[in-house]
Amino acid sequence: MCGIFGIANQAEASRLTYLGLYALQHRGQESTGIASSDDEQVYLHKSMGHVADVYDEETLAKLKGTNAIGHTRYSTAGDSSENNAQPLMVTMRYGPVALCHNGNLINAVGLRRDLEAQGALFQSTSDSEVILHLLARSQESDIVEALKETVSQIQGAFSILLITKGAIIAARDANGFRPLCIGRLNNSYAFASESCAFDLIDAKYEREVEPGEIVLVRGDNLRSVLALPSTRTSKCIFEHVYFSRPDSMVFGRTVQASRDQMGRLLAKESPVEADLVVPVPDSGVAAAIGYSAESQIPFAFGLIRNHYVGRTFIEPRKAIRHFGVKVKLNPVRDLLKGKRVILIDDSLVRGTTSRKIVKMVRAAGATEVHMRITCPPTTWPCYYGVDTPTRKELIASTHTHDEITKRIEADSLAYLSLPGLLQAVKAKPNEFCSACYTGKYPLDFVDAIPDAKEAERQLDLWEESLKKS
Ligand code: AMP
Repeated sequence: MCGIFGIANQAEASRLTYLGLYALQHRGQESTGIASSDDEQVYLHKSMGHVADVYDEETLAKLKGTNAIGHTRYSTAGDSSENNAQPLMVTMRYGPVALCHNGNLINAVGLRRDLEAQGALFQSTSDSEVILHLLARSQESDIVEALKETVSQIQGAFSILLITKGAIIAARDANGFRPLCIGRLNNSYAFASESCAFDLIDAKYEREVEPGEIVLVRGDNLRSVLALPSTRTSKCIFEHVYFSRPDSMVFGRTVQASRDQMGRLLAKESPVEADLVVPVPDSGVAAAIGYSAESQIPFAFGLIRNHYVGRTFIEPRKAIRHFGVKVKLNPVRDLLKGKRVILIDDSLVRGTTSRKIVKMVRAAGATEVHMRITCPPTTWPCYYGVDTPTRKELIASTHTHDEITKRIEADSLAYLSLPGLLQAVKAKPNEFCSACYTGKYPLDFVDAIPDAKEAERQLDLWEESLKKS
């Protein structure tokens, strides 16, 4: 996924970017970086780790200038290492340039092979670096023209921010896979993956960067160019299901409203007699409120999440059963004891988490546990920027509904239907990508899979399923 933020023409550009990244921490916890600029130079600081740990007064003071862009990384292409941390910074004919990218390029492997054959030297394994190489090769003297040329060569998902001496440039692929919006703070323009980053700095949400649009901001001047014709969009529906924060505007609508509707429609589609609606926190909360309102079954925080668990923790020497889930979630026995419980979660991917949570709720005294999922079964991997396992690891692509219900040890299991999900997000025809549920990929994806055999196998399966449908 990744979170990106930028602001131009602002005295405290790097500090506000730091705050924006704080609000986007949920989109990536591996590494973070900020690049800032004045009219003379581009300055950079990046490191592995969380926003709270990577910056201090001293580092922010070195990020001089009135423009800044920043990144929180969650790797989908390229390993999780310092080399791949963003912004990626290089020097080319336009002077120093730094790049932040959210998304996945599906033709990066081929482009990189060609560039390397021509002698290009790569410093990372990230697909994002290809963008900088193509930009540097352009013969255009104007960087916006060069970027226009670059975005017509890359395919896949990209919401990007670039910073140069004195300016910021934003761009979004023609399908609009990943979000990117524009905000306003007095005489400054800001950019963010999600609008919750604007709230923290008192900026006002203005609009999305349109699919296929390039926006250049220099001082208080904004110049927009339609670089790629957008014939149909493929906005990622999973942003509304899981990734984005409920207090954000994403693709022009609030995530809270979508999740509330997902819960309400799920209650209509798959009702069950029960005593309590319990969310799997945090991602299930908004939908569980909707489910409870629609079904008139009381809502309760029957599971409590520990928010202070980092990505790695020291495990006890002597094994504790289901430690990984226990350290994050704990049941409230007083609420669950003797109750028939409806558990609401956003998605079931491998099925391993659900199994542990159902067990945990039952062990806390629940007499029945009914699992309700706010999206359809995840049966296909994503090649546009969401880290999903291979097809054979997706439980819903290898097991029947009954087998999954048994496997997770639930009394019943139901998913929100695809029409229900599309209705919940108020989708216009052909607006969203739902390939993770249908296998109907809006763009060819062969390049995105490093293993050619697996790519071939997936294409065969894909074609078979298209014939059937
Ligand atoms: P599991 O079924 O064990 O794979 O876990 C599913 C849970 O993981 C869901 O409830 C989500 O909260 C979370 N989840 C779903 N997709 C992702 C993803 N791409 N990256 C990280 N967490 C995810």
